[in-house]
Amino acid sequence: MNFVKESVNQTPIVDTVFSIVAKAKEAKAKVGSENVVDATIGSLYDEEGTLVALDSVFSSLKNLDNKVLAAYAASFTGNPDFRQKVYDWVLNGNSHLEHEVIATPGGTGAVGMTLQECLDEGQTVVLPEIAWGSYALMAQMHNLNVEKYSLFEEDHFNLNSFKSACKNVMEKQNRLVIVINDPCHNPTGYSLSEDEWKEVISFLNECSKTHAVVLLNDIAYIDFSSRQEKAKEYFAQFDQIEKNFVVIVAFSLSKSMTSYGLRCGAAIVLGQEKEAVQQVKIVFEKDARATWSNINNGAMATFVDVLDNHKDAYDKERLHYVNLLKERGDIFVKEAKEVGLKHYPYKEGFFVTLSMDNETRDKFHEALMENNIFTVKVNLGIRVAICSLSVEKTKGLAKKMKDILDTV
Ligand code: PLP
Repeated sequence: MNFVKESVNQTPIVDTVFSIVAKAKEAKAKVGSENVVDATIGSLYDEEGTLVALDSVFSSLKNLDNKVLAAYAASFTGNPDFRQKVYDWVLNGNSHLEHEVIATPGGTGAVGMTLQECLDEGQTVVLPEIAWGSYALMAQMHNLNVEKYSLFEEDHFNLNSFKSACKNVMEKQNRLVIVINDPCHNPTGYSLSEDEWKEVISFLNECSKTHAVVLLNDIAYIDFSSRQEKAKEYFAQFDQIEKNFVVIVAFSLSKSMTSYGLRCGAAIVLGQEKEAVQQVKIVFEKDARATWSNINNGAMATFVDVLDNHKDAYDKERLHYVNLLKERGDIFVKEAKEVGLKHYPYKEGFFVTLSMDNETRDKFHEALMENNIFTVKVNLGIRVAICSLSVEKTKGLAKKMKDILDTV
């Protein structure tokens, strides 16, 4: 007997992160944490191995009036000052398109809402072949099919594969919904160049002559790009989109404010014409009301307060960790090159991913754990979370991994 939707696969979620996090914890208790490399956790950790919670953010939150924390938001799309602040902060003056902002519970809310509301059941979404696992789960929950594009051709974005995935989908349906997780792609750390973005937009403009195009640009890690404001300049290229084309930018305060548990983010809808943007906004607003109703008022108020009143402190704190991430990434990538450990082209962000087929990956992952090195398996690779690995633990890791890889 079925008590739930028949369209949803009932196999339980296999959590590839938390089960390994638990094993790493066990190993630390057994052999001492100094003898364990725990590169599993996908949140930002400091050099002492504790979660980073930016002071500028959390002292702002704690100074809010209780009534602000208690209150419902002003509307189902979020508070007007929050929406304006998100638009200004994220686009940073680089976009001149018609726009609307809808507050969401994290970037997850913005991505999930887009997949659910921009595609009908049975239609297909275009996803990267190596990707954050939630995209595929969301597709499954909303009864969508998935067409994947391979991410790289040598060390560059695989435009050919991207184009052919889009073309395959266009043969089957009248709407094209594509996910591009950029900059700081999870889990490879790749960021498209300006030229690559130009080519993507120009191709999608062609597609929009016959199909409605929705580009979901998941920017979860953007504020930890080592290029900072420069990493936002590609938004200017969205100004070239045609009228049958909308962009939805999924923004996450979890990363930008290190406030994962406050569950706040936004969907920024961009388009050439007001009507297109309003159509998406109206449906998203209804979806918001029907699903989560309201967004955490304290989280929205904190974001506004931090950027209005504590921006210098916030920038200073964030930049410290941006530099630390860069230091960890540089060490790992340099040493990997020296010992010939292959990884996907890493530019910036929370993760570096080693490239290998899935059979080797499975054996390698086990062998690493036998040597007290804990990582996360992803499609066609092993994710090394430099976001939670200290500089000290990063040093020498590539060689250790290469030596183990040579034995499997
Ligand atoms: N997008 C990517 C690529 C992510 O890795 C994550 C979180 O890990 C998110 C979006 C959404 O995170 P949140 O819902 O906490 O904002």
